[in-house]
Amino acid sequence: MQAEYGVNVASGNSNHRKNTAPEPIMLESQPYECPYCGEPAEAVVDLSGGDQSYYEDCPVCCRPILFILHTEGTTWSLESRREDE
Ligand SMILES: [Zn+2]
Repeated sequence: MQAEYGVNVASGNSNHRKNTAPEPIMLESQPYECPYCGEPAEAVVDLSGGDQSYYEDCPVCCRPILFILHTEGTTWSLESRREDE
């Protein structure tokens, strides 16, 4: 498993959604493929910040991937793009 992210994930966070209590930290994980090398990886996104874009290095090829997070209510999507696109 690849776990080399530049993101500090709150400890104890799990992806189980059975707990219906609202949590102040809205972290979700999103699988993606690196737009440079095509390797599958997983991004952790913080939905509490609303729409945002940020760079994160690919855990495999270390090139900067531009992530664009769109949020709309409880729906959200994450785009991963090359820096030069
Ligand atoms: Zn890569």
